[in-house]
Amino acid sequence: MSKVLSGLASLAIFVTVPALAEEAAHRQLGPHVHGQGTLDIAIDGKKIEMELVSPGMDIVGFEHVASTDDQKAAVEKAKAKLADVLTVFKLPAAAKCKAEAANVENRKETHKPGEKDDDDDDKPGAPQHSEFHATYTISCEAPENVTGLETVYFTNFAGAQLLNVNITSPKGQTQAQMTRDKPTVDLTGVM
Ligand SMILES: [Zn+2]
Repeated sequence: MSKVLSGLASLAIFVTVPALAEEAAHRQLGPHVHGQGTLDIAIDGKKIEMELVSPGMDIVGFEHVASTDDQKAAVEKAKAKLADVLTVFKLPAAAKCKAEAANVENRKETHKPGEKDDDDDDKPGAPQHSEFHATYTISCEAPENVTGLETVYFTNFAGAQLLNVNITSPKGQTQAQMTRDKPTVDLTGVM
């Protein structure tokens, strides 16, 4: 019995490891998961750099090229909301932060080699993915007071369910998640 179990266990390991590697490659190249975005936060002294990547589905509810006036307006409105970084991602007032730069793009995701990529690709409704990609530079006069972050991202963007948060500071790296139910991240001890 135990031999069978350990046999199964090693089989499971054998199967799982390549699957994980494949999943990692898939994440870099292939379609994202709708509902899930990524927020990278790098804190260094008074400077905070943030990078947000979100599926178009999460932000505007579609990923094809905007064709109607309504769709184009929705994309522009979303970009404007995302550009206002300190409204979307609130830092403590005591930290006295201000946005130095914000850049928001709506990018078409590159398809994997071999994936369907025919002439219909640019037509509205064609199966493809797009993402909103935002980069921010923030400076804080009192970075020691950056003890947390609160977001209205989920209130603003109806399709968003989860943000995977990666935090890098001189003290090291840590991960967290923000969700509709918990739109906050604790940054105590990160500075
Ligand atoms: Zn997608």
